[in-house]
Amino acid sequence: MASGEFDLIARYFTRPTRRQPLGIGDDCALLAPQAGRHLAVSSDMLVEGRHFLSTVAPEHLGHKALAVNLSDLAACGAKPMAYTLALALPRMDATFLAGFAQGLHRLADEHGIELVGGDTTAGPLNICITVFGEVPHGQALLRSGARAGDDIWVSGQLGDARLGLEALRGTVALSRADFTHARRALECPTPRVALGLALRGVARSAIDLSDGLVGDLRHILARSASHAPIRATLDIDALPRSGALRRQSRTRQHLCLMSGGDDYELLFTAEPAKRAQVLAAAAQSDTPVSCIGRMEAATTTTSPDEALIRVLDAQGMPLSTPWTSFDHFTA
Ligand code: ADP
Ligand code: MG
Repeated sequence: MASGEFDLIARYFTRPTRRQPLGIGDDCALLAPQAGRHLAVSSDMLVEGRHFLSTVAPEHLGHKALAVNLSDLAACGAKPMAYTLALALPRMDATFLAGFAQGLHRLADEHGIELVGGDTTAGPLNICITVFGEVPHGQALLRSGARAGDDIWVSGQLGDARLGLEALRGTVALSRADFTHARRALECPTPRVALGLALRGVARSAIDLSDGLVGDLRHILARSASHAPIRATLDIDALPRSGALRRQSRTRQHLCLMSGGDDYELLFTAEPAKRAQVLAAAAQSDTPVSCIGRMEAATTTTSPDEALIRVLDAQGMPLSTPWTSFDHFTA
């Protein structure tokens, strides 16, 4: 964008930089991770029509754009430091920008982090944020750490964001209260940063749930398999769900829980001996957690009837699992 670009940046995005050595205004920002810590870096892009609907309130969009990025830091057990924002805007829209910046800055302030740079251009609405965090050497939570015998845990409640999306698409009718709840889950996820930090040294593996439980659990299984093949058994009734979701048919509940997407809860594994520590981390971070299953050893030649993810009903009978992960190229 031409001249207006600099006014726009100054007006909506430039605030004093106190925590990092250099913020907006030069060719690079400068960050200062503490000695003995790794810099954790992650980017997430939000495209209109793909990741959000044009009807979303600008404040919620600003919140969500940063929240999904903070969620990645949370999954690694990294402490957020700063972020950058690359923004393509169809036009200079003061109402949109003011709301968007407010949602963004509010969440950033909650986490004590600063916007230190970015890029701004004209184009179809597209928001790309990169977050920077820090984590002591060797303490990052990784997808690859799961082992046979681990408990499988999840934070919060699953499936509400998908329920909200279906309601907005008109494929499910909800009461006003349930709709408000589900839409909020979709548009204003809470990144579980405090839980991620509290799980350092407690969890053995972690991932944040962006594409649905089945798909993201598969990522843990795949990344951990290089150590030894494992498979997961889940208890369907243990999957934490809201009253709004409970009021849906079991089929819809299961779909939303297993392959909902956009939950931004943490999925993690820990040794059974660490149960008390997991619960202490949950209490310390004021974040509910539920144990939803167990990792088991798998044979190297996983036969077709030995599914990598088994889901058991209350009688211990396996449910057929047609659920898939959310895929932007097939959805
Ligand atoms: P350059 O041309 O050197 O890439 P720009 O002229 O694009 O720099 O940007 C000027 C300054 O404003 C830089 O410090 C850049 O990081 C910052 N900036 C640009 N767009 C944004 C944005 N959307 N949010 C925050 N900072 C931004
Ligand atoms: Mg630039």
